[in-house]
Amino acid sequence: MKTRAALFRSAGLPLEVVELDLAEPGPADVLVRMAAVGICGTDLHQIKGEWQRPTPMVLGHEGAGVVERVGAEVTGVRPGDEVVLSWAPSCGACADCARGRPAACVPLHRAIGAGTLVDGTTGMSLDGETVFRGTATGAWTERLVVSERVALPTRGAVPLEQAALLGCAALTGVGAVLFAARAGAGATVLVVGAGGVGQFVVQGARIVGAREVVCVDPVEARRETALGLGATHVAPPEEAKALLRRVAPDGVDYAFDAVGDPETTALALRFVRSGGTCVVVGLPAAGARLDLDPAEFNRREKFLTGTMYGSEDPAVALPLLLEHVRAGRLDLASLVGPSYPLERVNEAIEASLAGSPGRVLVRP
Ligand SMILES: [Zn+2]
Ligand SMILES: [Zn+2]
Repeated sequence: MKTRAALFRSAGLPLEVVELDLAEPGPADVLVRMAAVGICGTDLHQIKGEWQRPTPMVLGHEGAGVVERVGAEVTGVRPGDEVVLSWAPSCGACADCARGRPAACVPLHRAIGAGTLVDGTTGMSLDGETVFRGTATGAWTERLVVSERVALPTRGAVPLEQAALLGCAALTGVGAVLFAARAGAGATVLVVGAGGVGQFVVQGARIVGAREVVCVDPVEARRETALGLGATHVAPPEEAKALLRRVAPDGVDYAFDAVGDPETTALALRFVRSGGTCVVVGLPAAGARLDLDPAEFNRREKFLTGTMYGSEDPAVALPLLLEHVRAGRLDLASLVGPSYPLERVNEAIEASLAGSPGRVLVRP
């Protein structure tokens, strides 16, 4: 089977739209016609050369589409069903998988590092040469074969361009508040970074009934968006200290670093109250290291933790998020940014790198 896909060969080179060979779906697989795929920080790390992964590779892992065909053993979805892809096609057998945490699966992370699925294959090739899959997915393509387990039905609850956002940014950002921090009503919250994921952290804080939600980001348009989504206060980084001194003089209960840079993590941790929790949500560049003052942990008893993909099984979290969307508590529409057809994928990447306030989408 053939599919047109955007191929990443090396940092600094534009992506190239080519026709790939796609292996037929196995008995437990589904063939998905991709409709919308977001550009996530993980894709940008590779495009900027901050992470080394095998190439040529099809990037993109935050996607939604329509099931075209299903393998003989598939029971969860049917042709015509709209689905969100989970980027965690885990092994299903390890301790992390058994406790319902597919995104923590070690074989999965090994496979992501190797640019393959857990079984070592990719099911994609170009002139007989293996094409690797970004984040065990590789969704900047017209058609994609995935395991039934990661094709999560939306039951038409949201338009596909909004559904795409659920595939990574929304599950990660909202999950960071609901499942990783387990923040409750009345909490004071700091969100560092108002990109795709940060905006969902802000919404997660609003959903749990946080009393104050302070959002810090250098881009004014992003701060404006955050205000519309539930932030009670916003500031550029240089004004964060003065604002927080006023809003949460003893520090916040929860601080979320939605950027993942050692500097933003340090900033988030600094403004946590004694005994409060800092959650690292964004993913750092390879080799990044934190330089921390131990007094934050002994004298001030702070907690520093992190989250991967919202710390919940996507198959469990997605229906919950869809319920929040249906009830009007979770806004996806405001965060859908500009869309580009597959042929203009490089323009899409530029828009994302330029800090578009909404999620930039590739529409294969
Ligand atoms: Zn992502
Ligand atoms: Zn596993």
